[in-house]
Amino acid sequence: MNIDGMKCSRCRKPAQHRLPSHNARFCDHCLGIFVRRQAEKAIKQFDMLGPGQKVLVAVSGGKDSLALWQILLELGYQAEGLHLALELGDGSFGEASLAASQDMAQRLGAPLHLMNMAELAGFGVQEIAWANKRSFCSVCGTLKRYQLNKVCLDLGFEVLATGHHLDDEAARLLGNLVRRHQQYLESQWPVLQGAPGAFAKKIKPLCRLRGAEIKSFAKSQGISVAKGACPRSKGATLPHYMDAVRLLEERMPGTTTNFYMGYLEDKGGPPPQPDPAQRCSVCGMPSYADVCTVCRFLANTAERESTKRDALQSPD
Ligand SMILES: [Zn+2]
Ligand SMILES: [Zn+2]
Repeated sequence: MNIDGMKCSRCRKPAQHRLPSHNARFCDHCLGIFVRRQAEKAIKQFDMLGPGQKVLVAVSGGKDSLALWQILLELGYQAEGLHLALELGDGSFGEASLAASQDMAQRLGAPLHLMNMAELAGFGVQEIAWANKRSFCSVCGTLKRYQLNKVCLDLGFEVLATGHHLDDEAARLLGNLVRRHQQYLESQWPVLQGAPGAFAKKIKPLCRLRGAEIKSFAKSQGISVAKGACPRSKGATLPHYMDAVRLLEERMPGTTTNFYMGYLEDKGGPPPQPDPAQRCSVCGMPSYADVCTVCRFLANTAERESTKRDALQSPD
């Protein structure tokens, strides 16, 4: 739909999209050019990928990761998808996420790797959370980071791309500053360097784009996305910081870019390369302790399950 008879800032044809933070209006075609250019700029600025490089995209089924997959292919990278299915206790959201990821793979004619978190871990996230007295979200996050990294390396990819955009990164930065999480602030950078056999390089090529810009792009491209939010995310704090970022941007267009890019500029460079010297004695993945967090989680869960079984089998 054309807005108020406005013309595209680039080609002067009727415009469908308003981008207040860039003081621009675009038609569908020129929005696509803008979005690809911003992704390309981020890839060059932060040295994310070499020309035509192979990259695995973590595809959730939401608009950001699906758009990212398409953009990376359009920019000439060999982008394959990885969908890590989670059991969230609500079949419909998980199923919709998987279906949207499969639709996109078909549309792009690109390979999609399917993995199931419970199968990889041997236990459901809820069981692991109970056994370790942790929240569902924190266990899910830890397992997801571990599995994405491990699966990426197992599949022979050096680089893992995620669909985090400018609003995500700005909200995370705001949250880390408010809570003074120094350790997380240190790793706040659109690229985390990899180490062979230990860490995949992690990249966020959409870090220069606003969530609303990606939403418009996905819509204009007819990308069908999984609707709704994770049913488990109710207690999460990030959405509050996201609301704060949106409010500031609405009142003062350009604030998000100035805040996030300004922080990166002051910081000057990426965090140091991770030291993969120490390995988990169970799984062989990098770890600060003799046994990594995930293997400790799984051992506690196995112990709890066997105690439960013994209790059930005891005569009284
Ligand atoms: Zn145009
Ligand atoms: Zn381990």
